[in-house]
Order: sequence, then C-alpha cells, then structure tokens
Amino acid sequence: MTGAPVIIADGLSGKNITHVPIGKKHFSTVSVAGDIAAADSMIVLSHFKGHIVSGFGGALKNLAMGCAPPEGKRAQHNARPFSIAEKCTGCGSCIEVCPKAAICIEKGTSVIDKELCIGCFECMHVCTAHAIDIDWVTEIPEFMERMVEYAYGATKGKEKKIGYMNFLIRITPDCDCFPFSDAPIVPDIGILASLDPVAIDTASFDLVNQQQGYTDSLLTTHHHKGEDKFKGVHAQTDGFRQCQYAEEVGMGNRAYDLIKI
Ligand code: SF4
Ligand code: SF4
Repeated sequence: MTGAPVIIADGLSGKNITHVPIGKKHFSTVSVAGDIAAADSMIVLSHFKGHIVSGFGGALKNLAMGCAPPEGKRAQHNARPFSIAEKCTGCGSCIEVCPKAAICIEKGTSVIDKELCIGCFECMHVCTAHAIDIDWVTEIPEFMERMVEYAYGATKGKEKKIGYMNFLIRITPDCDCFPFSDAPIVPDIGILASLDPVAIDTASFDLVNQQQGYTDSLLTTHHHKGEDKFKGVHAQTDGFRQCQYAEEVGMGNRAYDLIKI
C-alpha cells in the first residue's frame, strides 16, 4: 500500500489527450495521455516479461502503451495478422477472444477483416494450430519503432526527471494485457532502478538471458545461459530492436553499469 491516488491519465473516456510534436520517422506528433504530458516528473514502474510480438515488455513498452490514450495505442499497432487456410481447423477459438469481432469462419476456415482488426494479436496467441501469422519482416520492426517513438513522446520535456524501476520477478512468457498468464520462464532476478529507460531495459534483457531457462515452462528452446529466452517462447521475435531504436532516437544509452545494493 502506497497511499497514492489512482488517476486515469487520459480521463475516464480516454479523451484527455495532449498531442506532442516529436518529428520522428513514423510520427511527427504523438498522442499522450493528458495528465502524463502535464506531469513535471514520473516514476515508471514496469513488470519485465515476454510479449508475443515485441519479444519483451519493459520500461520502453510501458511508456509507449501505458502513456498513450486509445487512439495512440491504435496508431502504434500497425501490424495486422492474417489466417492461413491450409492450417486452420475452424475451431473458432480466435473468434472468442477477438475484442473487435473481426474474425469469422467462411467455408470452414477463419477470415480476418483488416478494417475491423486493431492488431492486438490475441487471436495469434490462442491459435494452437499456428494458423494465424503476421509479416515479421516488414511489419514488426516498424511496430517496435512506432512504440519507441511513442515512448519518446511520453518522456519529452521531462527527460532528466523520470525514474525507472523494472521488476524482474515472475518473468512470464506473455504480456500482462492478456486475460491469462503462464509459469515464469526463468528464476526471479530482482528489481532494477535507473534514470535511463534504454539502459534499464538493456540490462533487464541481458539479466534474463543470463539465466538458465525453466524446462517446465513455455520455453521450447533457448534454455541455456546466454540465449535469448524470449525467442525461446516466440521464435520470430527480436525484442532488442526496441533498445537499439530508442538509443538511435536519443532516449538513452545501451551501455550500463550494474551496481548491486
Ligand atoms: S483459432 Fe486458429 S485454427 Fe481455430 S479457427 Fe482460429 S485460426 Fe482457425
Ligand atoms: S489481432 Fe486482435 S483485433 Fe485483430 S483479429 Fe486478432 S484478436 Fe481480433
């Protein structure tokens, strides 16, 4: 219990929005929750865990998605999945989880309406037949860059006045936004603190990968120390792109010193 008040930073209807100019590759302006933009400083608390598309989620992803109103979240999710008719069994599990009713069954297989789809990827996660996929080569690197540009916008104007804490505890294979979770993929590591969102995510990523992965988890490969654990859950992900691009846009530095307290 901290006793701190809960404030819905974009308002109860998600309409309290400040448009922040950033002038980057994908966005000239980003939509930031109004009370985040108005704050003088921030403490950003993030649970470090896996993600089906971005590999992992830490401080950068928390800034990007956590500080964006609905229109900003939609703007970041550029990728749209497609179904593979030859693999689809027509089981309908994807239809049940789709928040936008964007999937239907036609001639025994699923069809995704890209106009309705918001790119939340929940259908991909539940499809045990691996019949839903995305364009990993062209759409996913851009998705990561769009996220980072939103993170940049959320910090703009208070760069030296933000503290970050990453919780490397119960490091689960998937995002906390899913309505379910799974067993951790590596042992608990601890809590990291930094003033640099790029350094803290880089250090978190490295520390997770230095662990021996649990065999009784969703990790199917990459169990050994030094291997990318998040690729061991979702083989095509490359989460570190977040840190590289965040350094490129000037959010921080991938170099870090670990000081144990
Ligand atoms: S969950 Fe997969 S197999 Fe089932 S209908 Fe959807 S795409 Fe097809
Ligand atoms: S990505 Fe999300 S919104 Fe799009 S079809 Fe899948 S579950 Fe529905």
